Amino acid sequence: RFLTFEGIDGAGKTSRINALEAHLAAKGVKTLRTREPGGTPLGEKIRGLLLSEDMGVDAETLLFFAARAEHVERVIKPALEEGIWVLSDRFTDATYAYQAGGKGVPGERVEAIEAWTLGGFQPDATFLFDIDPAIAEARRGDRGEAADRFEREKAAFFHRVRDAYLERARRQPERFVVLNAADTPEAIEARMFEETAKWL
Ligand code: C5P
Ligand code: MG
Repeated sequence: RFLTFEGIDGAGKTSRINALEAHLAAKGVKTLRTREPGGTPLGEKIRGLLLSEDMGVDAETLLFFAARAEHVERVIKPALEEGIWVLSDRFTDATYAYQAGGKGVPGERVEAIEAWTLGGFQPDATFLFDIDPAIAEARRGDRGEAADRFEREKAAFFHRVRDAYLERARRQPERFVVLNAADTPEAIEARMFEETAKWL
């Protein structure tokens, strides 16, 4: 199974993925935890560039897909072939949300690059951590980490990203599980465990 986790920065994905990973391990499921941008040695280098360098949105979009193509071919598909469940913190939906929704890259362009690099390769399920951008921003502030290039964007940007995620979830309800990321961790995790139980 290939599971992805999406949402704006500060939605709380990382801690909830940790909990799901532990839950699956307790059930005897072999899992591989990975993230985007990143997931391979080249991908992690590309991540460094994406988070720090100033660049145009076309270069940015192509770099996300360059990292993703490597990630899918070298890490995700080989693991799935061995029956390992792959849990990826972000995947292609993030590019539709951030670069298309947030920065205005035409969606058809993202679709074309996606078709070229990934064919029809899609997650089995995508957990969308939906949250008000104001709450997410407060949480990012609490973490006290230095903000990356994307996290320094204005509130309006995160509203567009959130809306783009929700729109994708509306269009692909069979794949998306929309979680209210303002709920308690326990409630969110219970829903995640319930959604994956059908595959155990
Ligand atoms: O998930 P994480 O916060 O580590 O992602 C790194 C940064 O890359 C985030 O600030 C995220 O907003 C940004 N990003 C992006 N477009 C993507 C994927 C991630 O702008 N397609
Ligand atoms: Mg972040």
